[in-house]
Amino acid sequence: MSAPFEASLHYAQEQDQTDILFPFRERFLFPQHNGEDVVYFCGNSLGLQPKSVGYLMEKELRDWSRYGVEGHFRAGNPWFSYHHLFEDRLTKVVGAQKEEVVAMNTLTVNLHLLMLSFYRPQGKRYKILMEAGAFPSDQYAMETQVRMHGYDPEDAIIEITPKAGSHLIEDIDIINAIKEADGALALVLIGGVNYYTGQFFDLENITRTAHSVGAYAGYDLAHAVGNLPLSLHDWNVDFACWCSYKYLNSGPGGVGGAFVHERHGNDPKLFRLGGWWGNDEKSRFKMQKGFVPQKGAASWQMSNAPVFNMVAHNASLDLYEKAGMKELRDKSVRLTAYMEFLLNKVSHLPFEIITPAEPNKRGAQLSLLFTERGKQVFEVLTERGIIADWREPNVIRIAPVPMYNSYEDCFRFYEALMSVE
Ligand SMILES: *Cc1c(COP(=O)(O)O)cnc(C)c1O
Repeated sequence: MSAPFEASLHYAQEQDQTDILFPFRERFLFPQHNGEDVVYFCGNSLGLQPKSVGYLMEKELRDWSRYGVEGHFRAGNPWFSYHHLFEDRLTKVVGAQKEEVVAMNTLTVNLHLLMLSFYRPQGKRYKILMEAGAFPSDQYAMETQVRMHGYDPEDAIIEITPKAGSHLIEDIDIINAIKEADGALALVLIGGVNYYTGQFFDLENITRTAHSVGAYAGYDLAHAVGNLPLSLHDWNVDFACWCSYKYLNSGPGGVGGAFVHERHGNDPKLFRLGGWWGNDEKSRFKMQKGFVPQKGAASWQMSNAPVFNMVAHNASLDLYEKAGMKELRDKSVRLTAYMEFLLNKVSHLPFEIITPAEPNKRGAQLSLLFTERGKQVFEVLTERGIIADWREPNVIRIAPVPMYNSYEDCFRFYEALMSVE
């Protein structure tokens, strides 16, 4: 089926006029280039700032000056329970129940904390299965966890690579590798959406297969959260973690998030590192010996909420709530298809789109692999006020995000490519 798209500015602007999410663009601050908003396609790397963040941050500073320690209970959003602000809205973003999610720490930290619970190698079962070429932080996390338990990463980590001649890892190859590893497998831990290719994996099927051989399944959702609708609870995922500064627009180093399925989160016998904020709220201030985990994912918290680091998250999740995950996804599928349509019209530049063509195998991002001249093209884009992302050695990643990108943005990108001699 070929979409009835047109490669013209007029057509793109018409699409924007009928887009119900178009007004959300007005709620974000865009970097400037020659006095105009840039065309911003890096929402997969660092999302833009919601305009409301400045005001909300000032409010928090004012509450601090006004109340001092009493702000824990008297601030507009009391700091004592600040982390509870996010549960309802996060459940809709990741498809979870309230007790299964928590906003805390940052991504790699959460990955480590959750692996301490879910990577407990014993006897013959000590292997981790991951995708080759995972984001470096994930590779380092797994390498060092494996070493901590006294294993050799070369032996204990199974990496799934794309078939020769392909850039993508087939879900079936992951499934088969899980079955093959069988009783040696302790944990499957992959990125829900691959950061480089933009490929979205079949998390439900992978999870089911992992469970069938007695392994846990956990996911790094850095590039999936806020990008695609997820159903972590229904898919029976054991645990997941994510950052909030990419699609979730919660600012550099913004607070991360974690999901722990209720069957684990409510099991006090499952090991987790303790801190007072993860302790049962009723006995938290009794200052007694003996860690009593509260229910759910919140029991993995260590410290009291980093309020200033959560303000942008609060602002951004409001916009997700208002826009709706389904509406965002509907627009995203179409917006990315439009970009793909335009890119397929560019025949004079040597690139291919390595992101899967099937809409249900990708989110917003498209990755363009250049055989040559990639850097030159990237520089032309930058000169024209188009912010894309350059990945060595030869990939330009662009993410038309449904929250604030427009059809006109896509057309401007196409125009810029066409201008490259
Ligand atoms: C962005 C990203 C990270 C970054 O980790 P931080 O701990 O937030 O710095 C890690 N893993 C993946 C897959 C990412 O995409």
